[in-house]
Amino acid sequence: MKYVLVTGGVVSGLGKGVTASSIGVLLKACGLRVTSIKIDPYLNTDAGTMSPFEHGEVFVLDDGGEVDLDLGNYERFLDIKLTRDNNITTGKIYQHVIAKERKGDYLGKTVQVVPHITDAIQEWIERVAAIPVDGEEGPADVCVIELGGTIGDIESAPFIEALGQFSYRVGHGNFCLVHVSLVPVLNVVGEQKTKPTQHSVRGLRGLGLIPDILACRSTKALEENVKEKLAQFCHVPLENIFTLYDVPNIWHIPRLLKDQKAHLVISKVLNLASIVKEPSLEEWTSRAELCADLHVPVRIAVVGKYTSLSDAYLSVLKALLHASVACRKKLVVDWVPACDLEKETEKENPNAYKAAWKLLKGVDGVLVPGGFGDRGVEGKILAAKYARENKIPFLGICLGMQVAVIEFARSVLCLHDANSTEFKPETKHPCIVFMPEGSRTHMGGTMRLGSRISIFSAKHSKSAKLYGNQTFVDERHRHRYEVNPDMVERLEKAGLSFAAKDETGKRMEIVELPSHPFFIGAQFHPEYKSRPGKASPLFLGLIAASCGDLDSVMNPASAHQYLISNGPRNVFVNGTSKKAPNGLADVRHNNGYSNGHYTR
Ligand code: GLN
Repeated sequence: MKYVLVTGGVVSGLGKGVTASSIGVLLKACGLRVTSIKIDPYLNTDAGTMSPFEHGEVFVLDDGGEVDLDLGNYERFLDIKLTRDNNITTGKIYQHVIAKERKGDYLGKTVQVVPHITDAIQEWIERVAAIPVDGEEGPADVCVIELGGTIGDIESAPFIEALGQFSYRVGHGNFCLVHVSLVPVLNVVGEQKTKPTQHSVRGLRGLGLIPDILACRSTKALEENVKEKLAQFCHVPLENIFTLYDVPNIWHIPRLLKDQKAHLVISKVLNLASIVKEPSLEEWTSRAELCADLHVPVRIAVVGKYTSLSDAYLSVLKALLHASVACRKKLVVDWVPACDLEKETEKENPNAYKAAWKLLKGVDGVLVPGGFGDRGVEGKILAAKYARENKIPFLGICLGMQVAVIEFARSVLCLHDANSTEFKPETKHPCIVFMPEGSRTHMGGTMRLGSRISIFSAKHSKSAKLYGNQTFVDERHRHRYEVNPDMVERLEKAGLSFAAKDETGKRMEIVELPSHPFFIGAQFHPEYKSRPGKASPLFLGLIAASCGDLDSVMNPASAHQYLISNGPRNVFVNGTSKKAPNGLADVRHNNGYSNGHYTR
């Protein structure tokens, strides 16, 4: 196993995660199998209890791990499926070491940061790097490790120490350190300044880590003399210094690295030069260019609680983008703060109220994403009502599906008090209820999490067609509440269709309004499995419906035509066979999706 460690210096938010994922893409394009590990030096054992306001979205993995959003970048870029252990946090490591101490595994020794925590980190990395994540058997060739935070942070010190020891342990030729840094340009003189990078490399060396490569963020390509200066002061060969200058979208980064021959440098450091092939990045390059060229807009309102921070809905945003590119449309997202749609805002802040409704009324499609807590819920219900009554394409995800059901119960069944017991425990008409297996006292890791099967019950539903008429799909979940099984019959009689259910048939997974051009809610989160070249079917449905082109993506015959006329088609190939639930035939599927349509 070879390791590429990516560290960051100078400031946070340099795009270390995207750099690390792009290095992975480049190595994969060279014919290597790649896995990845993200280290987050915070104390939380996972990201599950962290507010999206502070930290961006919580990403959910197949195994139910609630992890840092960077793992989403890795999964999307490398088209892999990671495990919860691919996200290491200080909390996880300490929990592991303390559990061993309680068992008496340290045989009376004093348990210390060095060597016990640092050993545990190294063992964890070696163990997790060997887990196959690309559907193939056996360990990958290269593991890209991203160390969160910035060099010099107090809390990353044990990790730095462990990684220093680790580089020595795995030996020369097996470890490559890429340091991502910033080369700012001072406006007055327009000069690229190297001092911050010099300082941060000095810090890195002082902590026992020696950089092999510098990846410098800057607005433009580094001037030759600037590179020379960096090489001289940071003791890094000139050809090992790359610039990650500003590009129109992040899909350009793998090519940017390739153009600067990063693959040759990395494979030389890792003693792989004799086996890597010339990387082919055509798919990435053409997608990046296509995306930058799109100009016919599709406007989607995302009605949520955390609209001021787009990272809070990162996977939703990416899934919308994948689907828009598939439909050859330029994605325009209007972030609508759910609270601002509410009657109370009309009184308290009429301008915000007007602005929110103006935005909502100007879009082609509405998406209500997942969420927790009651803030903005009434606004989300109003958005669902607006979309239903005005026949605007609507996709509700998790809480978004639940609000659609509440709205339907209120407006169509005239149950004005209908609500979720999450928001109004004493409601007379609880159409969304707490799931029996949840915990009311412990928040961390106690939801219905990860990959679960949804079996299509209504064969001719739009969602079944979008998923290529599969018997079932396998998508990721993260919820505590569900549609009240006791109210299902009543809702169905009034015209709401439950198009997919779990294997017991009691838990509702997809709701649809057959009388509406496109009104779908999913209890699961389809966004987590969307990929740049494999848009999630429900997102594709929303975007296509918003462009008035739903039939093209639902009907395999015309979908073919449609996609050919818009460029080459990419069929899912590496499907994995999955054991079908009771009574169903085995179905081959990929990422839980259908026989692949869509995009390049
Ligand atoms: N709060 C809702 C629940 O727990 C929805 C969760 C979500 O949207 N992820 O069921």
